[in-house]
Amino acid sequence: MPALRCPWLAGTAKSPLEVCPLYYWNWLRHIVRLPETTNFPTAPDPAVAEMSDPAAIEMAARPSDPFPRRSIALRHLDAGSCNGCESELSLLSSPDYDFTRYGFSFTPSPKHADILVITGVITEAMVPIIHNVFEQMAAPKRVLALGTCAIDGGVFAGAPGVVGSLSGIVPVTVAVAGCPPSPGDILRGLLTIADHRDPLASRKAVSR
Ligand code: SF4
Repeated sequence: MPALRCPWLAGTAKSPLEVCPLYYWNWLRHIVRLPETTNFPTAPDPAVAEMSDPAAIEMAARPSDPFPRRSIALRHLDAGSCNGCESELSLLSSPDYDFTRYGFSFTPSPKHADILVITGVITEAMVPIIHNVFEQMAAPKRVLALGTCAIDGGVFAGAPGVVGSLSGIVPVTVAVAGCPPSPGDILRGLLTIADHRDPLASRKAVSR
């Protein structure tokens, strides 16, 4: 900020009324700052879009209640993953994907969470825990089924103790397919939940 010397205090003006109004305007301009970002981005970078699979995102449900848009907390629940999905999920906070610019962040508490992200194969032992975490979340809340295991059991489907699909346990809003899905697809899935539309298919109107 450049130094603003007051002509009144410097003794070159006899009264504050003699000071040019532009001095006061410059003074106000430097102490009242407009926000630097006024438009919230709604689509991933083209580079992220290029790494995405157009068929990966499936919107399973279209909730009609409004959803908080500017700041969305994610609670991740590992229901029995091989950690492949977690590796990709953790890249969302890297500089390449930087999901915080869209308003997303992780939270350890279900009570603070807006979106429940579930990875891994759904076993019978995890069903009550998934119910418990989902019930602790405050409405409006959404569920992201992340990876083939969470969607239909993947390679573990039919194994003893494996329930299979997450959709019969909690209401799944968006499913992101892949084993594992790419971070670009996960980001698209999150943006689809936030906006009710896939950013890569934004030309198509979505009817609720
Ligand atoms: S979908 Fe693939 S990467 Fe993800 S937990 Fe299952 S086996 Fe692992």
